Amino acid sequence: SKPIVAVVGRPNVGKSTLFNQIGKKRVSIVDDMPGVTRDRIYMDAEWLNHEFTIIDTGGIEFDESDHILRSMRSQAELAMEEADVILFLVDGRAGLTASDEEVGRLLRRTNKPVILAVNKIDSFERESLIYDFYALGLGDPIPISASNAMNLGDLLDAVVAAF
Ligand code: GDP
Ligand code: MG
Repeated sequence: SKPIVAVVGRPNVGKSTLFNQIGKKRVSIVDDMPGVTRDRIYMDAEWLNHEFTIIDTGGIEFDESDHILRSMRSQAELAMEEADVILFLVDGRAGLTASDEEVGRLLRRTNKPVILAVNKIDSFERESLIYDFYALGLGDPIPISASNAMNLGDLLDAVVAAF
């Protein structure tokens, strides 16, 4: 079956925006699986002839999801169990937060590939915002702008290279 890519990250970092852009890009939507909340959660996608299923774990309502950190732990655990590649999305404008560090610690324990993308890098002048995220110990952060679709090709290249 197809590789599964799980998108993990704090609320408001841009997971749903990224998800919708991936659906719009030449990544064709092959089929939609039923989602459980108002956000679409599962999507079949394709990039450079690699087919995969992408999951927006932020759209999944966990028990006690009112507690952000607990909910993020559940996201990360689900991703570590179910996914073949984990896409960890952080917010370059907000900078590195304590919950990013907590999730980073969890994700460092998995032997699955983790791709770290720094969102809201809306122009090349802002690329220096990625440097703080090296501290997560998850490799080179990839700058993207989900709303402008900037660098999404590079991000998807990195994702499919990890299959
Ligand atoms: P989610 O909670 O992680 O799913 O985040 P959303 O996709 O709902 O986005 C949260 C907010 O960030 C929304 O107001 C988006 O418009 C905004 N946003 C998402 N991507 C970008 C981006 O690349 N640049 C900027 N400036 N804002 C963004
Ligand atoms: Mg969302």
